[in-house]
Amino acid sequence: MLVVGAGHAGAGVAGLLRQAGHTGPVELFGDELDLPYHRPPLSKKFAEGELEQWLRPAEFYREQDITVRLGEHVTAVEPAKRLVRTDSGAVHGYDHLVLATGARPRPLPVPGAELAGVMSLRTLADARILRKCVEERRRLVIIGGGYIGLEVAAVARANDIEVTVVEREERVLARVASARLSAILAGYHRNRGTRILTGAGVGRLAGEDGQVRAVVLDDGSALPCEAVLVGVGAIPRDELAAAAGLRCAQGVVVDSHARTSDPRILAIGDVTRRPLRTGSLARLESIPSATEQARQAVATILGTAPVPAEVPWFWSDQFGLKLKIAGLVPPDPGTVVRGDPATGRFALFHHLGGAVTAVESANSPAEFMAGRKFIAAGTRIDPVRLADPSVPLRDATL
Ligand SMILES: Cc1cc2nc3c(=O)[nH]c(=O)nc-3n(C[C@H](O)[C@H](O)[C@H](O)COP(=O)(O)OP(=O)(O)OC[C@H]3O[C@@H](n4cnc5c(N)ncnc54)[C@H](O)[C@@H]3O)c2cc1C
Repeated sequence: MLVVGAGHAGAGVAGLLRQAGHTGPVELFGDELDLPYHRPPLSKKFAEGELEQWLRPAEFYREQDITVRLGEHVTAVEPAKRLVRTDSGAVHGYDHLVLATGARPRPLPVPGAELAGVMSLRTLADARILRKCVEERRRLVIIGGGYIGLEVAAVARANDIEVTVVEREERVLARVASARLSAILAGYHRNRGTRILTGAGVGRLAGEDGQVRAVVLDDGSALPCEAVLVGVGAIPRDELAAAAGLRCAQGVVVDSHARTSDPRILAIGDVTRRPLRTGSLARLESIPSATEQARQAVATILGTAPVPAEVPWFWSDQFGLKLKIAGLVPPDPGTVVRGDPATGRFALFHHLGGAVTAVESANSPAEFMAGRKFIAAGTRIDPVRLADPSVPLRDATL
């Protein structure tokens, strides 16, 4: 068993294989130098505390007889010979190969993107640089109002750093949240001193002596700064898979058993384009999705019972808001607001004709859990009763 990529998905599948009783050799290749670690804290905790939060301590891999090869980049997969090659010149054979190569930050194609002080956030090394920016009290412009950008903005503001978020779309989180949640969160950020510019394209980054000094927008206006975080999404690292002839479509295409177009090769995590419960294919960049697919891969490799499909979900922390989001927001949904966004405790239930398709919650774990169950079971809700927090959730269904 070879696993390429020692992130959440790769380290997860290696551990789960042992837990499920697999006794053959398991080798995990990772091209970063650190032990597999939690990525979510990188955008939420970069200013204080321990950044290095390992998924498992080093002893775990020793005790479980999982060979971890850190700092080793897999350069080629040869499916016909069932082997991989690494940059150290080594060749390793496999019975099953799991590709868990993740994603890389999407680069910003504008002049000046190579200046010092311009960064992205994917790895521990990136987070260490960001921490230094906060320590040096550099003015920060964040390009991209997605979850990572907003999380970083929240931490920077909490540390009294001057922050501007520049978003090309007409609202933040345009790709990943309802318009309602976007508006609520934008309000939270603005009230805490973050400047948010929407519908704003970046023309170039201006520098002096190789160091970034300003973000220049398409309309010619300049935002002076000493640091720029580019958070405009991630692209799947599917080049190994594509070169090996596996079916890829902006991500390695897999089925609900984590199988690729090669019967001996599975793929899991951010590198995949995976089926949703509805049957359509999507890229889901989240820990719950990576974990679900790791379980699918183990079931496929060991021939055990298939893993039931989960409702997709993820979380985000911004200021005091613990956001938990499940399902997919359809275009033009009906929306029930339960709780009061002004108090920081609320849930938005999005539905089509009463059938809930998504829940977006803040500091409301019970509503989140109920929403997930409604989505999974196709439960229909009574919008009027659901909007009334005095009505128990179980009494708000039809
Ligand atoms: C800053 C940040 C905050 C996030 N916050 C949240 C959150 O709050 N909630 C949530 O659900 N999700 C969050 N995510 C998303 C989540 O971290 C990812 O969905 C998850 O890490 C995906 O795991 P993965 O193993 O597929 O990819 P990764 O974690 O990216 O791991 C892939 C690994 O494979 C290595 N690799 C790639 N190619 C090769 C090769 N050829 N040879 C050897 N090694 C290779 C990479 O270097 C990397 O270490 C966040 C992501 C980031 C970046």
